[in-house]
Amino acid sequence: MYKLPLLNPIRQLNAIAVLTSGGDSPGMNPAIRAVVRTALHAGIRVYGIQRGYSGLIIGDMEEMKSSDVSNIVQRGGTLLKSDRCKAFREPLVRKQAAAILQEKGIDALVVIGGDGSLTGAHLLATEHNIPVIGLPGTIDNDIYGTDDTIGFDTAVATALEAIDRIRDTALSHDSLFLVEVMGRNSGFIATQVGLACGAEMIVVPDFDTQVENICFQLAADHAAGRGSSGIIVVAEGQQAGLTYKLARQLESHGQKAKVCILGHIQRGGSPSGHDRVLASCLGTAAVSALRNGETDRMVGVSNGEMVTVPLEHVVNRNKPLNPQMVELVNILHR
Ligand code: ADP
Repeated sequence: MYKLPLLNPIRQLNAIAVLTSGGDSPGMNPAIRAVVRTALHAGIRVYGIQRGYSGLIIGDMEEMKSSDVSNIVQRGGTLLKSDRCKAFREPLVRKQAAAILQEKGIDALVVIGGDGSLTGAHLLATEHNIPVIGLPGTIDNDIYGTDDTIGFDTAVATALEAIDRIRDTALSHDSLFLVEVMGRNSGFIATQVGLACGAEMIVVPDFDTQVENICFQLAADHAAGRGSSGIIVVAEGQQAGLTYKLARQLESHGQKAKVCILGHIQRGGSPSGHDRVLASCLGTAAVSALRNGETDRMVGVSNGEMVTVPLEHVVNRNKPLNPQMVELVNILHR
């Protein structure tokens, strides 16, 4: 349960629009539903923009009724579809997007996506004075200014289900598995999953891990009679599949390991109860923030409360991973 922001409406809104952008995440649908139904409840018309900024720049949008978001609260992906739109990085294209919103009589925009999408939202708000509110929609939980993001909880649960199965094989064959989870620049998924599955170790891009140290720890575990099976959870880092390189390096040090890359299965699937509630509250809070006259801000979670944070403080910043959690993985598996 979250504490919702107080409603103190000072901005008159006739119509708003909503889009999902960047990598999809489970929970985007309940967020769209909450934006649409909260706005309609307040007498505000809502347009759903197709395929993120790609749809916005060509005016691909439809007015939504309450029934358009029926039966989506439990569905993964995004009803509005998502895309990566290179052109939106161009100032002239953003000018065109602002003109389209004005032409259609749309007073404000809600953007649901990750760091890149929120950067686009920030630029649209500052360059063209369009009221914009962002929602953190990414499985990576790597958005600065919020404790949680839409889809993280579901992605962790999906990865855990897979790893619990891999553990059966690891135990039966006394083998070591390197399981690669998503996380380009951050190890939030790897750390959460590592703690929850009782991993022997985690490898995250946030902290330097030497192959020699992994081998040393594995040898120490073996000497202490902990058996030779194990799970090392590896965040993908700069490129998916790099874990194969780590396996080769380990092999050159005499440690055999099998590799399993979880990949896109972590993105899909029905959102968890936690993500449905989070997304619903964030969607409602986004409409309240717009009605309260706010713009160029993201709605996030801080200590169980829905808060709004200036987008300029959110984008292009690294959310630090708590090193105590990484250390806890090492302590708890011994
Ligand atoms: P995510 O939002 O999941 O981080 P991306 O980084 O791919 O995903 O960004 C999604 C979209 O946001 C991009 O395709 C682009 O349309 C827009 N975007 C990203 N970075 C910028 C930027 N610097 N300026 C304007 N738009 C951007």
